[in-house]
Amino acid sequence: MSERFSRRDFLRLMVGAGAMVSFAPALRLKADAPTSIEMDTPPTLMLHTRDRWKLDQLVRLLNEEGYTSINYAMLLSAIEGKSKLPARPVILSIDDLGASYIQPYFLDMADVIEGAGHRGVFGVVVNEAANHTPKNWARLRELSDRGWEMDSHTCTHRSLPRITTQPEMDFEIIDSVKRLEDGIGKRPVALLAPYGNVYSHHRLRVFDERLFETTSRAGVSFIVGIVEGRKINSEAKPPYYTGRIGPGDDHLSAMENLKNFQSLG
Ligand SMILES: [Zn+2]
Repeated sequence: MSERFSRRDFLRLMVGAGAMVSFAPALRLKADAPTSIEMDTPPTLMLHTRDRWKLDQLVRLLNEEGYTSINYAMLLSAIEGKSKLPARPVILSIDDLGASYIQPYFLDMADVIEGAGHRGVFGVVVNEAANHTPKNWARLRELSDRGWEMDSHTCTHRSLPRITTQPEMDFEIIDSVKRLEDGIGKRPVALLAPYGNVYSHHRLRVFDERLFETTSRAGVSFIVGIVEGRKINSEAKPPYYTGRIGPGDDHLSAMENLKNFQSLG
């Protein structure tokens, strides 16, 4: 249980338990009313170039099972009640695309996913501004134009909770967002935390509030880690924290992980 939500969840649990004992009829009535209790985070796959061999068969399985890929902008729209998610949503995210060098494997991965009718999210390490590597940025813009969401994976891929000063935190989060916005013409919707590290106290799973404060100032709606983040609490405010899961050994384990996303992590 996370420190960020634990007290509130505990209170809700207590209220719920009390209601069950004292106001059972009211509870039944409530079950009939429209609820906005919380939303499940759509199963979210975290991919790297080393996973490129799994993609062909994975996207085929996704199509067989009726999954529709979405991105964080679509998730935000659903959270805000402006649109609905498809019946079986999935977020396909690919990390570590760099602005200083475009590793061709990333483009191959985009082609395979697109070829099966899907799109996803790139976590960009924004280690060069658009005016320094214009050819690379043209590639990033092209991916964006093809429907890929280009999100921040910071400027230098540092573990954010290990940063000790606010100017360094601002550089990794605010500058990466600004560079993406300047270079692509769209503000990223999500910050994909390097190594999934979001805790100031790892063992107790205490979130580093500086990440949330800085990401909020950057105007970015999601912080994406790995563990937890399986629900979006109805009382949560942006930036929302959501988790992800790796694919495991092959396309079969990737599909299993997606199906069991809510109970893993
Ligand atoms: Zn990374």
